[in-house]
Amino acid sequence: MGKVLRYNYRLNPTPEQVAKLIEFGSYARGIWNLLLSENERRYQYDKTFLSYNDMATLLKEIKVFEEFAWVKSFDSAAAQQVARDLETALKNAVSKERLQRFPKHKASYKKKKLHDDSFRAVNNSNCIRVEKGTISIPKIGKVPIVLHRKLASGIKTVTFQYRHGKWECSIVQEVKCKTARQVLQSITGFDINSKLSVVGSNGFEAPNPKFLKQSKQKLTHLQRQLARRKKGSNRWRITKERINKLHGKISRQRLDFAHKTSHQIANESDILVFENLNVKGMQKFNGSMVADNVMGLITQLVKYKAELEGKLYHEIGRFVKSTGICTDCGQHHALTLNKRNFTCSTCATYQSRDLSAAISIARTGEIDLIAAGIVARVTPTSQQKSAIKTKVFVLSKLGDGAEKKEAA
Ligand SMILES: [Zn+2]
Repeated sequence: MGKVLRYNYRLNPTPEQVAKLIEFGSYARGIWNLLLSENERRYQYDKTFLSYNDMATLLKEIKVFEEFAWVKSFDSAAAQQVARDLETALKNAVSKERLQRFPKHKASYKKKKLHDDSFRAVNNSNCIRVEKGTISIPKIGKVPIVLHRKLASGIKTVTFQYRHGKWECSIVQEVKCKTARQVLQSITGFDINSKLSVVGSNGFEAPNPKFLKQSKQKLTHLQRQLARRKKGSNRWRITKERINKLHGKISRQRLDFAHKTSHQIANESDILVFENLNVKGMQKFNGSMVADNVMGLITQLVKYKAELEGKLYHEIGRFVKSTGICTDCGQHHALTLNKRNFTCSTCATYQSRDLSAAISIARTGEIDLIAAGIVARVTPTSQQKSAIKTKVFVLSKLGDGAEKKEAA
């Protein structure tokens, strides 16, 4: 079973390379718009679209005309990738399962005053190589790259784009997952509280991302400022630039926080249990925080990291109550949002709201997994007994998700 990894890397292109990157981005946009127009025409005529092969042929044919000579200057694999992306977008737009909009034409630099076109190069016969601090791009050459993280394995595609005032590339690689562990040593439940910190049933605690809120306030301020400026004016440009930079900072902070936190969480245990955030979000978080949804990103990453390591990630059912349940006797209590601790009305145990929620999430998760026949609880052997609280599980079958993925 393989997984697709996507990582962003910063580029430090020379001025000549920048010119090339911008040029290639505009070619990709030009091809997108051209093929989209053709498809719109065709759709009006008989409600069908051009297939990928039709589009690829069309690209070959127009090259001979002088007005389309620029197509020849572009990397042909990247041009074909535009056709593939468009084919997917068109299919999604008419598919009933996915409510996506019809693809749009991409605006020119003249209109949007920003260079944000991107293009995707395909690693055919190893034409994209990362070596000696550079990445080789077909028809552009070796562009200096900041490898803050090692490449895991073979590169599939690379998207080049100018974002938040900097050039970067997004490298898609395919990696193999470790085979699922047969014996799982521990189970931990995690509660995400209204202050957006993560608390584990084993006492684990991750801080909440305060910096996001601060950056958000700054952003709102700048956006108001931008609305007052005349579009395209010098002052508009300056504010736009600052907003772009801030967006870049927020997305870096967000990703960095999510990666670090999910890494810590995934290391905590062999079985990781979370609540379903869709429901939780409605119950607890206020609007702006949900929009940011850094917690959703964290759970996604935990799932993904757990699966890479052959561990088990589980989300408990939608409407299972977890807050305010006594860890000793199971008595339910209705707690108001700001009540961080409570004393059980039946057995008088004093406990922390978050920790008791995490414990009840772990318990529900354990019951779920055993009931579904995914794991079986076993008695620890004498060696393992030394750690009293360790629970040991044996994997009896893979979860539905894993089976489906294997079949695909
Ligand atoms: Zn109690």
